[in-house]
Amino acid sequence: MSFILSPDEVGSLNARFEGADPADSLAWAAERFMPRLAATSSFQTQSVPLLHLIGQVCPQVPVLFLDTGYHFPETLAFRDELIARFGLTVRVIQPDPARAAAARQEALYRRDPDLCCQVHKVLPMQRALRDLDAWISGIRRDQTSARAGAGVIELLPEGQVKINPLVTWTREDIWRYIHQHDLPVHPLLAQGYLSIGCAPCTVPVFGGDERSGRWAGTGKTECGLHTAALQQSADSDTERSP
Ligand code: SF4
Repeated sequence: MSFILSPDEVGSLNARFEGADPADSLAWAAERFMPRLAATSSFQTQSVPLLHLIGQVCPQVPVLFLDTGYHFPETLAFRDELIARFGLTVRVIQPDPARAAAARQEALYRRDPDLCCQVHKVLPMQRALRDLDAWISGIRRDQTSARAGAGVIELLPEGQVKINPLVTWTREDIWRYIHQHDLPVHPLLAQGYLSIGCAPCTVPVFGGDERSGRWAGTGKTECGLHTAALQQSADSDTERSP
């Protein structure tokens, strides 16, 4: 396995970008990795600052959107609104049709949400990222304990680089940016949806952890994209089928 950046380079880049303007790490990533670079986004309110920055700094970077088939219609409409407003280049990623159909038929999200996320999110994203050198994501340390140790620049197990330009931001920073730039918010926010994913696994929350409405009551906090992405080879696609 060959790594695109050495651990020493990752260390010096993290020293450079920790606490810096997110536009700096975005511009560096676009210059260093295009055309083998993409961002990912779920097009919710928290996504708006990063998408706005991509539109300002590097609109040529494709934004991957996972179409699980379970999105709220409001999310799809919000995605299209942001594409038009920010001038984004969005690429829709879809799961394997046969597996997705089998999972949907038995409502797999009820029996085994981890496997459902693997079928609809992790495996399709692994395939999409396979030909890339680097991946931009919008995760933040303050979102969950699992994300608390994330760096601005990370090395993935397969050797690729992950760039988290907003990793040091807080929820307050997100809101400050949205207000400063007069940006839109997801239409379901007013109904208490602080963090929005697939409709069957998202409920409104009023206060507290913004991601507590995701897989509420199950103990699950991550879909696996940010913990398992790129950790499995293509061969593992067949290990657990619905
Ligand atoms: S969030 Fe829910 S419906 Fe969406 S892929 Fe994961 S388990 Fe399935």
